Amino acid sequence: MLKRSLTEDAQDVFRAIALIELGARMQVLESELTLSRDRMIRLYREVKGVSPPKGMLPFSADWYMTWLANIHASLFYNTYLFLKNEARCSHLEALTKGYRLYLEHCRHSDSEPVLDLTRAWTLVRFFDADILQLTPCCRCTGKFVAHRHDLQHNVVCGACQPPSRAGKTKKAAAAAKLETAQIAEAA
Ligand SMILES: [Zn+2]
Repeated sequence: MLKRSLTEDAQDVFRAIALIELGARMQVLESELTLSRDRMIRLYREVKGVSPPKGMLPFSADWYMTWLANIHASLFYNTYLFLKNEARCSHLEALTKGYRLYLEHCRHSDSEPVLDLTRAWTLVRFFDADILQLTPCCRCTGKFVAHRHDLQHNVVCGACQPPSRAGKTKKAAAAAKLETAQIAEAA
């Protein structure tokens, strides 16, 4: 293993703490940081007061396709892309900052966060692996999360077309849509 400076090491510790505070699972820490597994487990215990949960990450790309999850995932991923491409953040910075902005948005719009940090991280991985893509909505022109080979034209996003049972969460969807549009405009 390459010998790293004390500063680099300290930066990784801070990054790990930030990720753990936001709810990252061990798999996220292990793939993003170069600290030893033992140190990350110790950090996890210190920050959370409990041992990290064991087991696989049971996520499939289909999870992001249900109505509410899709709106939340689209909001997060648009923010992530903006931070990475326009604000020139690194992947890890865009992940943590983007996720904080997402939580803030949920607080402002009085909606429960649907996407946890690990799901947000997995979402980015699915995009990197070309399993998912952003598709423009033909009504609001916002871009939403879709499967790689889904139709690209004349499709409507979940925020523009909420299912009738969505009632209570319609307000949250409208707020998310507005936010996504603002991000798209800023980009
Ligand atoms: Zn739309």
